[in-house]
Amino acid sequence: MATCTSKIWKWRVPCKIKLFIWLVLQGRILTKMYRAKWRPEEPTECTFCGNEPESIEHLLFNCTTSACFWERLGEAAGFRCAFHDMEELWQLMDALLNQGEKCTQGRFRRIVIPAGLWTIWRVRNAMLFKGQMVYAENLWDDVLRLLKDWGQFLVGARVVWEPGGSFRIDA
Ligand SMILES: [Zn+2]
Repeated sequence: MATCTSKIWKWRVPCKIKLFIWLVLQGRILTKMYRAKWRPEEPTECTFCGNEPESIEHLLFNCTTSACFWERLGEAAGFRCAFHDMEELWQLMDALLNQGEKCTQGRFRRIVIPAGLWTIWRVRNAMLFKGQMVYAENLWDDVLRLLKDWGQFLVGARVVWEPGGSFRIDA
């Protein structure tokens, strides 16, 4: 893992997102399970579902809310966005990194997973710290907004959401 994570810095996403993904892969983002190392008296249930302990893998990959989100994102983006642990996440990201980035579609594919991880984390924090009610649609609206922004600045293309359920890239 140590040699793999250095590749994070090759990803063309904003620096704060690289840092966030690096922390995810190191198992060091401040989920409730992580916090429980110092504050075992605090509740550890998942912010989204309230059923399972909020580990990184549960919150970002396997919680029903997140798993549905990834499935929909993968269908829209045209490739399978499913992973259940760090190793699978890294394998998928590595595969995307090894594909040529000359085509717009390839560059777009590389921003999808970082955008999804960041969106889940931001929405979870809004729910936990600002008391916002969160629905699947909030995740979806957030990630669409992010992908449109990043599409323009990082991919050099207009990301268009087709109401039918997929993204179209205007180079
Ligand atoms: Zn959950």
